[in-house]
Amino acid sequence: MTYDVIVVGAGASGAIVAARAAADGLSVLLIEAGAATDISGREYWDPTLWAELPGDPAIAWGYQSVPQPNLDGRVIPMSRAKALGGCTLHNAMVYVRGAHADYDAWAALGCTGWGWNDVLPYFERQEAMFGILTAPGNAFIGSLFRAAADQGIPFNPDYNGDGGQFGAANFRFTIDTVTGSRQTSYSVYLGAGSTRVQTVAGLVVSILFEGTTAIGVSVIPTGGTVPVAYHGGTIVVSAGAIGSPHILLLSGIGAAAQLEQVGIPVLVDQPEVGQHLHDDLFGTVAYTSPGPLPPQPYGLLGAVIFASTTGNESALDFESSLSSGAMAGMPPPYRPDSYWIWPNFLHHIPSGHGRDDVPLHRHVPHGLRRGGRRRSGAARQRRAQPARDRRLHRAAPHYRQYGGGVVHDRRKGGRSPSRLLSTS
Ligand SMILES: Cc1cc2nc3c(=O)[nH]c(=O)nc-3n(C[C@H](O)[C@H](O)[C@H](O)COP(=O)(O)OP(=O)(O)OC[C@H]3O[C@@H](n4cnc5c(N)ncnc54)[C@H](O)[C@@H]3O)c2cc1C
Repeated sequence: MTYDVIVVGAGASGAIVAARAAADGLSVLLIEAGAATDISGREYWDPTLWAELPGDPAIAWGYQSVPQPNLDGRVIPMSRAKALGGCTLHNAMVYVRGAHADYDAWAALGCTGWGWNDVLPYFERQEAMFGILTAPGNAFIGSLFRAAADQGIPFNPDYNGDGGQFGAANFRFTIDTVTGSRQTSYSVYLGAGSTRVQTVAGLVVSILFEGTTAIGVSVIPTGGTVPVAYHGGTIVVSAGAIGSPHILLLSGIGAAAQLEQVGIPVLVDQPEVGQHLHDDLFGTVAYTSPGPLPPQPYGLLGAVIFASTTGNESALDFESSLSSGAMAGMPPPYRPDSYWIWPNFLHHIPSGHGRDDVPLHRHVPHGLRRGGRRRSGAARQRRAQPARDRRLHRAAPHYRQYGGGVVHDRRKGGRSPSRLLSTS
């Protein structure tokens, strides 16, 4: 059978693309490597348990970086979910539209249709589907807001609104406002089923071409070994920041020299495929609280600060959020009176990101710096076989500017987030 559209990956983007194509009357084949995994357990849907999910082997691709010379040789876990919903099944559910200026900058660089006013209607449509929950405040969050105001960072009633992101705000989550459950792109857009979308469990190992026109995909069905071919008029590769370039490389689209090295016939010599992987630097800063912390009904404590380390409000580069140290899945010490701050982070991996010890009152840098014009890591195929390569090549050459994973003591000076977080 030939489909109008074949969508690879049922994650944040793929599930929505499939649903929108079906709503336009098209026949859709949606192929997801983790579609057969049972995700009915409470842990997947109860937001308070989210921190355990990125380490859950049942839904993990198991990617990790190669040892990072600038992080003291640490290997950085790079969690990606293999399941219906993709990473929306294990992410922190934080809903952030993003900075208006970033979209407009992309449009100015030539990405027609990506300006803020172009994308806004899509956000509004998506929010009507999800329903976005605003985390309620509490005394602890109130003290954070007062401390932020003391530092010149005002309260922002809606960081997604017309006033922009700058400020301290209550988090918004993609949590069902009625049931309190996690929502994934798949559960929201396709959970009720669609007669026009056929979902198949299997690993896409390559795109099939006629000349240089994509006409289908080759899939190893889950539990099987023999590839099956599916044909479609349009092929959408939405397998994530690692999965998508991986499939292109396996299909012969990438740097010719590197493909030849691993025995993949070259279809298109395109050296940019798999390059310029950007991820986020974040740090865990652990503190004890002078008093008991309020209950944490959602994964994170419900407050966030968007600010700028340069003082330039139009160039926000600092996001800081809070979590209770008592939360399941967090690195030790688990203490009901400890709390974690994640400054300048946009990407959290609760395993401790290669460190299992997060001492209180210390800064522990993790992850990768995002944004800017820096070229960062690369996802490269190291063998001709599909899906065997779980280690990424050189994920972060610029780690060096963050001190090589050294644990910094905030008392040695420097602008410390503790100034924002005095609860006294
Ligand atoms: C731990 C963590 C926390 C996060 N927290 C937040 C947050 O709070 N807020 C936020 O906005 N973002 C968050 N993110 C980021 C966000 O979840 C991702 O940006 C988003 O899910 C990316 O969407 P995607 O469609 O590109 O990829 P994904 O959602 O990863 O979907 C890709 C899908 O493709 C499938 N796939 C891959 N390869 C193949 C193949 N060969 N064959 C078949 N299927 C394949 C995968 O199994 C997956 O289901 C977080 C991410 C992580 C890892």
